[in-house]
Amino acid sequence: MYRTHTCGELTLNEAGKAVTLAGWVQRVRNLGGMTFVDLRDRYGITQLLIDEKASSELKAETAALGREFVVQVVGRVVERAAKNPKLPTGEIEISVNKIKVLNAAELPPFTIEDETDGGDELRMKFRYLDLRRNPLRKAMELRHKMAYEVRTYMNNEKFLEIETPYLIKSTPEGARDFIVPSRINAGQFYALPQSPQTFKQILMVGGYDRYFQIVRCFRDEDLRADRQPEFTQIDCEMAFVEREDVLQTFEGLAKHLFDAVLGVKFEGDFPRITYAEAMKYYGCDKPDIRFDMRIGELTEAAKGKGFGLFDSAEYIGAISAPNCSEYTRKQLDELSEWVKRPQIGAKALVYIKVGDELKSSVDKFYSVAELQNFVEITGAKKGDLLLILAGAKKQTLSALSALRLEMGARLNLRTEGVFKPLWVVDFPLFEYDEPTQRFYAMHHPFTSPNPDQIDLFYSSRKEDLEQVCANAYDFVINGVEIGGGSIRIHDSKQQRRMFEILGFTPEAAEEQFGFIINAFRYGAPPHGGIAFGFDRWCATFGGSESIRDYIAFPKNNAGRDVMIDSPAPVGEEQLRELSIKINKEEKID
Ligand code: ASP
Repeated sequence: MYRTHTCGELTLNEAGKAVTLAGWVQRVRNLGGMTFVDLRDRYGITQLLIDEKASSELKAETAALGREFVVQVVGRVVERAAKNPKLPTGEIEISVNKIKVLNAAELPPFTIEDETDGGDELRMKFRYLDLRRNPLRKAMELRHKMAYEVRTYMNNEKFLEIETPYLIKSTPEGARDFIVPSRINAGQFYALPQSPQTFKQILMVGGYDRYFQIVRCFRDEDLRADRQPEFTQIDCEMAFVEREDVLQTFEGLAKHLFDAVLGVKFEGDFPRITYAEAMKYYGCDKPDIRFDMRIGELTEAAKGKGFGLFDSAEYIGAISAPNCSEYTRKQLDELSEWVKRPQIGAKALVYIKVGDELKSSVDKFYSVAELQNFVEITGAKKGDLLLILAGAKKQTLSALSALRLEMGARLNLRTEGVFKPLWVVDFPLFEYDEPTQRFYAMHHPFTSPNPDQIDLFYSSRKEDLEQVCANAYDFVINGVEIGGGSIRIHDSKQQRRMFEILGFTPEAAEEQFGFIINAFRYGAPPHGGIAFGFDRWCATFGGSESIRDYIAFPKNNAGRDVMIDSPAPVGEEQLRELSIKINKEEKID
């Protein structure tokens, strides 16, 4: 037997007991005659003591220990003189009488402790060492617990976990597919699923009215900080449901996870806001509602008074930062530079200090009464600082959204450990793309229009189609989009109309989606579903912005696995088998 106990479980209850432990040497501290060793495994850390009276052989063995050596120790549990209340095992130590090195280790390239000196790339290259660290261990434990609790809830709700294939044909989700060449079918390719969307809908036709899957999805997108080329979804679909049923079921899932994983309980329903409200008040479709600081629109009130920036703007909006009216020149200049950064892209920052009197950067153009009107429109209070941006509507709202989040962070209003979930509903069904002069589905082409807007959906006028809302919903926690889904089209006439609006000829629709159109001819029930970004949900619960920490073996920002060094070239022979010819001279953009 390698061990009688783990390194995380011994307490004073076991005092006097003979035990055997196994683990990794985290630290060795030699204090004169005595040596302390911190022994670590997945469960915790236990202090080992090799005291002055130890045999010279044991002392020599201890002296030879290095960081991350794998050892087995035999000893007795004793009460510690200096207790460490921070460790569950902090009241005891093991008085060692035998140490056996099970495996020596090279000096690790970074320290394996909560705070490490290793940079991102180095830690990813030596991921197995990084995984030994507490923060990662906790992240993996949280992820496991989440998956376990998802299955518990879904099972109780009579959902079946059904696997769908990884080698498929493109799904129409908008992003680029990863493709896999077929050896047997020369010149043909599979695609890795961006999501199991079509399969889960076909499962509904197959009669499995409650499906879910914790499933890997693949999207060949340009990488952003919180994106990974392969990521995991909790993918779900239900038949014989309306939007309300879906929202209730998955609000139930969210509440279960909050409670079971974090011990956070929610009374009442999660708030719901429409996409239009989200854009108007928060400038984005995934608002962080842990704090208020809503956007107030000043376009009407501020235009036409001779101030060029405002007069030429399509939109003028403001937020009021609480208790910031005393901001110094320097602070205001810094904030002004911040909004002008290319990522934010505002032209200028206009402010009004709401103190005993109103002081603004546009006093020349506006009377006190006019400024007072701005204050009233935005609901700013005494002590607030009104921050105003102007320009094109879309860009200005997005800049205000970024500024709002930044001020929220600076003022510590985005409190860690506080969770504010909400649903965003009534998204537009289509997005019009000017350069290509056509409509795209905002969600995907299987999303149904809002039931009360069917007439508009059949209208041939662009303005009418722009009005149509999708029967779709997003689930947001603390400004992070955790999931999204929709009620699907199950009527073939509607589906044909959808493809028509999206610019597919009947032949092209048949070629790409023939299998699902066909399936729908054989009795498709009304259905709808949702998918949650599992990695992101874990990261949000863990209080981290990085999904990478919650994936055991993530890719770096260039989409590479630096541990196994992938992607990598393959041999000529392998390529020949796949009937693939690479012309290295010819670079295709
Ligand atoms: N397949 C969609 C997605 O991956 C989710 C859904 O509509 O269920 O975003």
